[in-house]
Amino acid sequence: MSGREFAERGADLELVGIQKRFPGFTAIEELDLTIPAGSFFALLGPSGCGKTTTLRLVAGLEEPTQGRILIGGRDVTDTRAHQRPVNTVFQSYALFPHMSIIENVAFGLKRRRMDDPMGKAHEALKLVELDHLAQRRPAQLSGGQQQRVALARAIVNRPALLLLDEPLGALDLKLRRQMQLELKTIQEEVGLTFLHVTHDQEEAMTMADTVAVMNKGAIEQMGAPEELYELPRTAFVANFLGKSNLFTGDVVGTTSEALSVDVAGHRITVPVARAQRHQGLVTVGVRPEKVALHLEAPDAASTRNVLGPGRVIDVSFAGVSTEYIVAVPGAGTLSVFAQNVGFGPVAHEGDEVWVSWQVEHGFGLADEPE
Ligand code: ATP
Repeated sequence: MSGREFAERGADLELVGIQKRFPGFTAIEELDLTIPAGSFFALLGPSGCGKTTTLRLVAGLEEPTQGRILIGGRDVTDTRAHQRPVNTVFQSYALFPHMSIIENVAFGLKRRRMDDPMGKAHEALKLVELDHLAQRRPAQLSGGQQQRVALARAIVNRPALLLLDEPLGALDLKLRRQMQLELKTIQEEVGLTFLHVTHDQEEAMTMADTVAVMNKGAIEQMGAPEELYELPRTAFVANFLGKSNLFTGDVVGTTSEALSVDVAGHRITVPVARAQRHQGLVTVGVRPEKVALHLEAPDAASTRNVLGPGRVIDVSFAGVSTEYIVAVPGAGTLSVFAQNVGFGPVAHEGDEVWVSWQVEHGFGLADEPE
């Protein structure tokens, strides 16, 4: 398979029934995954969930215990690492210190005796906006610039698939955020398939078209970032992608449109279309920024859920917004994010408050409540 075939759009990647056992430990139980050509796909999950193992299987650095790996429709399960049309960018970029930047990027092409290595290296450096520093040595570049050189080196031979293993992990937060946007732009320009592994939910959501949330060696949920955030299927996904307010209660009424859930005497309505379980004991939730805080009991309305009275037990100012923690007897503790449009908080610790949210903003999980 030549790099040229994929120069425009990269190739799709299929993992079919992948299992990976290490002696005494199953890192991946069963994984089925299709990543379309030209997409920016993020595997997101906590430390130890099996992200790096998945990447190493695709790169050919580990062999699956079971299952097949297909790149561009070709089965590469038994193909050796250096013969797969795949490159990897790691957190530690290991540039050759004694070579110039351009020589670093051209090195692999020269070794494989490919045409015009210096011309191609210049093009790759242009793409990461470093061609003006081509003659410098790695030590004369900043961390972010060095990481861009590593990226240029990885895309210079137009692999069908680029694997990124926490590539921004060594950078400070500000540079990391900047590089996230740059990486996304570069991916759009080169059109290659990117598979990015990270434990940073903001990073995954900022960059990827599709995010797969991994937990204990399996994918819990996969979809567009907005879809995962707005409609998490499990408590794990709801909590991993930011904060959630979750409540458990019995379904006590159902129409074709909505479920009525009794949470310790409080009635919460969830749209049927946004709920994964429609009877019995269920867990329902709402994101903190969707919740409004009231200093007086709001009027009842069928379009809003209201909980209260409760009490503010904590207030944390965070510049653009303030987080209020509100305890509602029976229902539990909620987090409320409110934009700081005026000066100072709208409620203080100890204040009596009510909270409310639009019915259409709630969701119901697929998890079986304990
Ligand atoms: P991190 O974000 O910390 O890198 P990860 O999600 O990438 O985590 P993996 O490196 O894929 O996790 O590891 C998944 C699990 O498999 C871990 O529990 C790890 O201890 C185990 N594991 C990985 N490699 C081996 C190995 N060679 N032998 C035994 N167990 C292993």
